[in-house]
Amino acid sequence: MDHPNSDISFTTRVLVISGPSGVGKMTLVQHVLAEFNGVFRVGVSVTTRKPRPGEVNGKDYHFVTEQEFTRKIEHGHFIEHKMVHGFRYGTLRKELTKAGEAGQILLAELDVQGSEALLADSMVSRDLCRIFITVTDPRDLYERILRRHGKKEIRADDVLTRVENAVVEMAFAHQFDFVVKNDALDKAKADICDVVDFYLTCGKLPVRMTKG
Ligand code: 5GP
Repeated sequence: MDHPNSDISFTTRVLVISGPSGVGKMTLVQHVLAEFNGVFRVGVSVTTRKPRPGEVNGKDYHFVTEQEFTRKIEHGHFIEHKMVHGFRYGTLRKELTKAGEAGQILLAELDVQGSEALLADSMVSRDLCRIFITVTDPRDLYERILRRHGKKEIRADDVLTRVENAVVEMAFAHQFDFVVKNDALDKAKADICDVVDFYLTCGKLPVRMTKG
């Protein structure tokens, strides 16, 4: 039987960025895209959570119902899918194919479980690099989450869930290829560019590297 991802080109490389909610993954991803123009293709994930104000369907996420998400699982559309903070999120196989065809590296922002699922996939893991973004003090995340969502737009228990999940996720940092600390944004931007530059030039390190 063919491997479900056998349509993926051997040269498709995947760079995963993970880290707890509020750590600044999106800002750092945008910075990497601007600094390494055209190298990466960002995958648009599918989710069952509702759009936040300003989010655009098809650009930030494909926002779908539970039934649509289940149908995509049944049709084998995902290379990984997980439940995160009470909603479902998945990476479409076609994003990998598109990146491979364009000669780009797929840049996927995933939770820790999703990044582990890719590591366990023999087709994807052969050219997979995983960067974890973290902070020294998880209490900083609380303020950042409130600031990002606006105090009126997120319930206190949702913030708590995200902070609790953050502490769990941060315990996995040491398993990633690279760790970047985002205690100060300018330094984190410079550090992630160093890491990406290294990755593009040399591939992964045999030992793990921490910046920040
Ligand atoms: P948010 O709802 O704040 O946009 O994202 C919540 C979490 O879901 C973040 O940790 C983000 O990295 C993760 N996430 C986004 N897309 C995917 C995906 O396709 N798969 C998985 N496993 N996690 C995702």
